[in-house]
Amino acid sequence: MKFDLHVHSCYSRDAVNKPETLIRRAKELGINIAITDHNTTAAYPKLKKISKKSGVSVIPGMEMDIYSEGKYLGELSALFLQEAPKANEFPAIVDEIKKQDALLYAPHPFDVFRSGFRELGTVAKKLDALEAFNSRCYFSGFNRKAEAYADAHKICKIAGSDAHFPQEIGKAITEFNCDNLEGVRKAIKKRNTRIYGEKSSPIVHFYTFLRKRKLLKEA
Ligand SMILES: [Zn+2]
Repeated sequence: MKFDLHVHSCYSRDAVNKPETLIRRAKELGINIAITDHNTTAAYPKLKKISKKSGVSVIPGMEMDIYSEGKYLGELSALFLQEAPKANEFPAIVDEIKKQDALLYAPHPFDVFRSGFRELGTVAKKLDALEAFNSRCYFSGFNRKAEAYADAHKICKIAGSDAHFPQEIGKAITEFNCDNLEGVRKAIKKRNTRIYGEKSSPIVHFYTFLRKRKLLKEA
């Protein structure tokens, strides 16, 4: 199974992808997705409903802003999340995720232009995966550093497009040797993944800027 494990919908305030667009595009590409909106799981029920006939599998997830005593630490993401965690403070939020039996990963951990988790060392042992390739990293060195870190710490490597716009969906793929979601979960636990992808055009960051100012419509 092929997955883009980092995808945003229009329920993220900086993304335009309608749930219908995500499923249609995934089907066209022959891939599956994890929905990882910023601090919300609102898109998942709709995606689950409309994906049924399409054959596209959807993993419920979230990309979360994390704080420590009010200080911003950056983002961590969860896959197979049942509900949005109540905490946003570290480490309580990580405990909640683990209690839900969800998987924890660090998105774009070394991208200094974006909100990678600042104190990776404090959470490394709890990570089920590390995003070793993110299509939105402007410099490839950020991804190379992430891949080296995952190798050195024996953390499972995954890839995600971080799609906020339809043309980005599927730019990064994590491939699994299985045919169902339980197999995906097990493969991540066993660090049995293959990742590949390409970078998105830097212009996507400008589109994100426009969307945050409500200058672009849902698509
Ligand atoms: Zn993201």
